[in-house]
Amino acid sequence: MKILVVEDEHLIANSLKKGLEQENYTVDLAFDGLKGFDLASTGEYDIILLDLMLPGLDGLSICQKLRACNNHTPILMLTAKSQLEDKIKGLNSGADDYLTKPFAFEELLARIRSLSRRPQKTNGFVLSVGDLYLDTLNFVVKRGDKEIQLSSKEYSLLEFFLRHLNQVVTKDQIIQYVWSYESDILPNTIEVYIRNLRKKIDLPFKDKPQLIKTIRGFGYKLSK
Ligand code: CA
Repeated sequence: MKILVVEDEHLIANSLKKGLEQENYTVDLAFDGLKGFDLASTGEYDIILLDLMLPGLDGLSICQKLRACNNHTPILMLTAKSQLEDKIKGLNSGADDYLTKPFAFEELLARIRSLSRRPQKTNGFVLSVGDLYLDTLNFVVKRGDKEIQLSSKEYSLLEFFLRHLNQVVTKDQIIQYVWSYESDILPNTIEVYIRNLRKKIDLPFKDKPQLIKTIRGFGYKLSK
């Protein structure tokens, strides 16, 4: 899952990124409202953590603008204010949930799980193709009865494929989703990750359909 964190306090933003990455999420950071809106409206995110008070463009405006241009990415508002009035404003502007700072990291994780459990682009929280399953709540991947251990990046890569089932995806699209925007990963590196993922989800299952297909000159496709 990819999360956008829009938060102008660098210390909080960086510690959120670090904590979330340890939980297998890919995280992009924006330190002001304009950058936040720009990333939110152009990137592919599963959840946006949005601070209320931001330089450039405040959280409520970002929320309203995104909803106005038909972007329905779940938004969890973060704010130092605890007044009921702000809570109501936040939810009216299109935010899905609300968390008052300071909050426990565990509480944040619970809210993120609850938001990602709501059906958005996918049905529920288990993604599958054929006999391959990925449980996005418990980070479990199985082919048939066999549980498969993936690294954090391999997991994100497989999740991306499953969310784009039967579609040809380019290396650039993969980079955009699996890596944060400031990482300088090269398209050729993607081939290494694809090879490693194949070694885990396809090659040990020789008698079953090989799920990751290379589409020469275009990219890759996950399908039965
Ligand atoms: Ca702030």
